[in-house]
This record gives sequence, C-alpha cells and structure tokens, in this order.
Amino acid sequence: MLAMDYRGPKRVRAVQKPMPEIKHPQDAIVRVLRTCICGSDLHLYNGNVPDTRVGSTFGHEFVGEIVEIGADVTKVKVGDRVLVPFNIACGECHFCRQGMFGNCHESNTESTAVGAIFGYSHTAGGYNGGQAEYARVPYANVGPTIIPPDMDLDDAVLLTDVIPTGYQAAEMAGIQTGDTVVVFGAGPIGIVAARCAWLFGAGRVIIIDQEDYRLEFACNYSYCEAYNFKEMNDPVLFIKKITDWMGADCVIDAVGAEAAGNTMQTVTGRKLLLQAGSATALHWAINSVKKGGVVSIVGVYGPTDNLVPIGNMMNKGLTIRGNQTSVKRLLPRLIEHVQNGVLNPKALITHRIPLEDVADGYRMFSAKLDNCIKTVLMPPTANQ
Ligand SMILES: [Zn+2]
Ligand SMILES: [Zn+2]
Repeated sequence: MLAMDYRGPKRVRAVQKPMPEIKHPQDAIVRVLRTCICGSDLHLYNGNVPDTRVGSTFGHEFVGEIVEIGADVTKVKVGDRVLVPFNIACGECHFCRQGMFGNCHESNTESTAVGAIFGYSHTAGGYNGGQAEYARVPYANVGPTIIPPDMDLDDAVLLTDVIPTGYQAAEMAGIQTGDTVVVFGAGPIGIVAARCAWLFGAGRVIIIDQEDYRLEFACNYSYCEAYNFKEMNDPVLFIKKITDWMGADCVIDAVGAEAAGNTMQTVTGRKLLLQAGSATALHWAINSVKKGGVVSIVGVYGPTDNLVPIGNMMNKGLTIRGNQTSVKRLLPRLIEHVQNGVLNPKALITHRIPLEDVADGYRMFSAKLDNCIKTVLMPPTANQ
C-alpha cells in the first residue's frame, strides 16, 4: 500500500509499505478515505518531537471504511464508515473511565505524561498513522465512531482533531458570559477556538498571528477581531491597552513550541534546544491575561522543561489549563453542532492533494504557501 514515510527532518515521501495487519483481537483495519496534515505534524516534520523514528508514517486525522476486524470487535463492522479520533484509548483504564481519552494509561505504557496518538512518534506510543491507504486501529470498540450517513467526509475528517481541539481550547478557558477572549495563533486550531469561544458566551474575541491571510480567514470564519503582532511593538501591551489595562479574561495558546516573535525564545528553544521549543506565545498569554484569569494551552510543547514566567503566574493568581483533547468525549455534541450548521468544519479546507504528493503537501503547509489553512490528502483508493 502507499503510505507517507518519514526520512528525517524536513524529508518525507510516499512509498510502498506492507499492508497493516490485525495484531490484537480488538484491532480493526481501516481503508483511509481522507487524511489531513496537521499543524502538530510540522513539529514531527521539523524533527522537534523526541523519538520520531525514520520509517514511520504520520497522520492522526483520518476517516475511512472498516475492511477487517479482530475477533473481539463488536462496536463496528466491515463496511462501516468511521471517523477515528486522534487519541488511541483503551476505554477501560482509570483515566478513560473519567472521559480523559487523551490521557489513556494503557495505550502508551512507555510514557506517564501522554497517551498514545496515531502517527506521532514513539513518545506517543509508536503507532503508525493514517497518511496511508490503510491503517491499523487498536481498541476498535472505543475510538472509531460511525459517520452519520448525511455527513460529508470532509466534515468528518475535521472532527478527528481540529474541531474538538479548538472546542476544548475554548472549554478549558473557562469563559464566562461577556468575557474578552484572546487567541494566539490563527492556524486551524486557533481559528476554531475563536469560533467556539462565542458558543461559551464570550463577549469579545480577538485573534493574534503574523500571517495576514490567516488573520483575514479568521475574521470571516470566526467573526472575531484579528491583529498582526508584527505591527505591534509589544503584543502584551497591545492587549492591555485594548482591555482598559486589565488584560484579557481568558487567553488561549494555540501556537506551541515553534512560535515566532521573540529572538531569545527562538535561539534557546529552536536553535540551541535548551528548552522544549520557543514558548513566546505562552509568555504573551501569561503576561496579557488579567489577574485571576485563565490560560488555556492546546499548542504542542515537548514533554520536557520550558522557561515560562511561573512567578507571574503565581503572583497573578492564574489558572493554567492544558491537555490533549478528549475527542471521543466531545464527539456527540460536536456531531450535533455540525449537523445543525452551528459549526462548518469543511470550510477550513483550502487544499486537496493526492497522497503521492505528500512531500509537496508538507512543504506547502510548513512554508504557509498559497494561503494554505488546511490540507487534505487523498489516498489513491479514496474515490473507489
Ligand atoms: Zn492534528
Ligand atoms: Zn485507557
């Protein structure tokens, strides 16, 4: 089968690989019909995630058709069209039972910090991902969710990560009616977080990024104010100024470890690797939220130390929340929002690329060429 293959930093290609096989009675094999490149795949692509092994297949956002099931799979059957949450979760451990499907204790026993994620390095379990014609899906009674017959596959594929993650970012921000919410990062997740902030009762939503085309997209998609930090002397000062010098009520970091905008952070985090990436957006978030406010982190940081202004966090009485998204917990509500027209996932898709051209897809998304917001990869078998 054709599959994406990681060869080292900034080098990916499409190659023929062996078909995945059922390895456990709860496995299923899915024929992939749509798969996306995610902003967090760029951390892998750039070589910034520990233990990303040459020869692995990325891809944690995919939908497809079940073509084979293990002996113990009862919740889905061959022929079902399913969307597969990016988290791999057992459904039975202490954390899964609380709905914390992103923090499963069983699917990635090598790590105490992170549950397993499809196609996201051996740090996240070493499972191959869905940027391929076929994928093995463990715990098939738990994750795969049948796509309603009236739902477009383009909408469904964005329910595997982007929409739930943007939604959970807003949920974790603890938004109260009338709050001013600032979102750093106008990638797909930030755009969805800004859109969802309104659903939680925000009174004002502001998004900040350095790419004008993304800011313009966010303005239209998320009905929010949008500002370019390259046009400001200091984003923290800017936010204070437009909030009567109080600071924002809630700030969402939808950027993570490869933030631009601060030379010291770029040098220590991205060039010298003295910390787990450049935490510029997180600094801005902690410093621009009001006293007693909430910072919600969905941007990906490496699992090791970062230089963050923890003193400001303590002195200001902040609540800082972050997590991998619990996709399965949120799906029932989000499927309803899509069916009722409250959320329009597929409007985020700007590019559709054959899986064969996966290298071009990564290059374009990474360099933010051609006004790219979200890229869908189409496996050769997707149109059958
Ligand atoms: Zn993703
Ligand atoms: Zn579990």
